[in-house]
Amino acid sequence: MAADHVDVLIVGAGLSGIGAAVHLGRECPGKTYAVLEARGAIGGTWDLFRYPGIRSDSDMYTLGYSFEPWTDPKAIADGDSIRAYVRRTAREYDVERHIRFHHWALRAEWDSATARWTVHAHRDDTGEDVTLTCGFLFTNSGYYRYDEGYTPRFPGVERYAGTLVHPQHWPDDLDYAGKRVVVIGSGATAVTVVPAMAERAAHVTMLQRSPTYVIALPSRDRFADAARRWLPPKAAYAVVRWKNVTLGVANFQLSRRAPGVVKRFLRRAAKGRLPSGYDVDRHFSPRYDPWDQRLCVVPDGDLFAALSAGRASVVTDTIDTFTEHGIRLASGEELPADVVVTATGLNLLALGGITLTVDGAEVDLASTVAYKGMMLSGVPNFAMTIGYTNASWTLKADLVATYVCRLLHHLDDTGRQIVTPLAPDTDDLEPIIDLKSGYVLRAVDQLPKQGPQAPWRLHQNYPRDVRLMRHGPLTDGVRFDRAGVPATAATTSGGTDA
Ligand SMILES: Cc1cc2nc3c(=O)[nH]c(=O)nc-3n(C[C@H](O)[C@H](O)[C@H](O)COP(=O)(O)OP(=O)(O)OC[C@H]3O[C@@H](n4cnc5c(N)ncnc54)[C@H](O)[C@@H]3O)c2cc1C
Repeated sequence: MAADHVDVLIVGAGLSGIGAAVHLGRECPGKTYAVLEARGAIGGTWDLFRYPGIRSDSDMYTLGYSFEPWTDPKAIADGDSIRAYVRRTAREYDVERHIRFHHWALRAEWDSATARWTVHAHRDDTGEDVTLTCGFLFTNSGYYRYDEGYTPRFPGVERYAGTLVHPQHWPDDLDYAGKRVVVIGSGATAVTVVPAMAERAAHVTMLQRSPTYVIALPSRDRFADAARRWLPPKAAYAVVRWKNVTLGVANFQLSRRAPGVVKRFLRRAAKGRLPSGYDVDRHFSPRYDPWDQRLCVVPDGDLFAALSAGRASVVTDTIDTFTEHGIRLASGEELPADVVVTATGLNLLALGGITLTVDGAEVDLASTVAYKGMMLSGVPNFAMTIGYTNASWTLKADLVATYVCRLLHHLDDTGRQIVTPLAPDTDDLEPIIDLKSGYVLRAVDQLPKQGPQAPWRLHQNYPRDVRLMRHGPLTDGVRFDRAGVPATAATTSGGTDA
């Protein structure tokens, strides 16, 4: 039986996959597409994570889609509202009927002779193996493993008699009211879960090996409230979005150029929200520079408020061992705990774990170079969405989807079927992600590289990318071919062919 065929196959029905499908439907209405989703629901991250307090840490005017105004007054929104927004978008833009749930894409094989991908998926509801073909493969599969969060091996953990929970797998029935809780970690999840659990727990201790930069921001944006009063929703959304983009870029650039100034500012801001005499340097002054890791936002300073009220505390120390009733630290101190939450992070996973082959040869991701942060050298008719590390993910996701639509039009207009990025002629390659967070460092060797300059460099700069991806050339660093030209010809030849 012939496999199902679509022009574009999107993998993932999270924030990015739904956005990609909307762009495709609006900007390339003549193209057929399907969305493969491994889970049984829309929303990805915003459906999976259910820990107390789950929320965005960037503002929704930039985490929302360019085409669908975020109208909720909360600028930093809870997980339920974000999930509802993604689902509503899928419904309103007629994406739902294109989604094939419970389809886990495993392997994709490119064939230059037919200019097609054959994609193999497994259905976890029926147990069937399914094959589809497509002209263009577009992964929107996020950046981490869904089946398992990251937990380091803690000594003595098997002795611990309390409840151990990872935020990625939160039990629906976990009752922590009146209990002593220890949250291990200092990242975005830890700073979210600590004040949320402190509302009902007897006490919550955030146990961190080393501090993170934490900044309090208002959960409601007064400028946005005013813009909504004076302007129609779409115009208000665009104005606030650009205001937030500009502030974000300025903040990032200042952190890179004058890290000392930003460090002092963040320290002073934290100190101002904590009780006098609090050891800010020990608990809130990291050794690294701002934006070497993502800054942690706490809406309305909720973490600082919980610390000031004595409902929560921070301990900066290392774990010697778990005991039967809690955790013993290197300092000798014991933290009794009825519940331990391991907010220790994610396991990075590129392309949702899909293996790619091109004309029979397996693609080694680590030896590819990312083109405009969204295609891979030597891999034809393929794009992936990876959001910004220093700004909202969706800003980049929207640009990638628009760029894919421009490329598809260009192929049609020029009578070609294949587009392949050509690896840059340089050894000056760097990791694709420049963050020094643990979850990045653990996996960076297996990821594609970036080159020294455009179109191989990720500038992590939205205004610059708008110029490059919405209005810039489509023909730099790539080769366009008709079906039948083997991909190896494209990867070894220099120059471009528009
Ligand atoms: C707790 C948390 C909070 C975050 N907060 C923010 C924030 O405030 N701002 C921000 O910019 N970013 C944030 N991020 C990053 C966040 O993941 C992105 O903002 C965004 O949700 C990513 O959307 P996505 O659709 O690309 O990926 P995901 O949300 O991860 O969705 C990917 C989808 O693809 C599916 N999938 C994966 N592999 C396959 C496969 N092989 N076959 C079929 N389907 C597959 C998954 O099941 C999932 O539904 C946060 C991340 C986490 C974990």
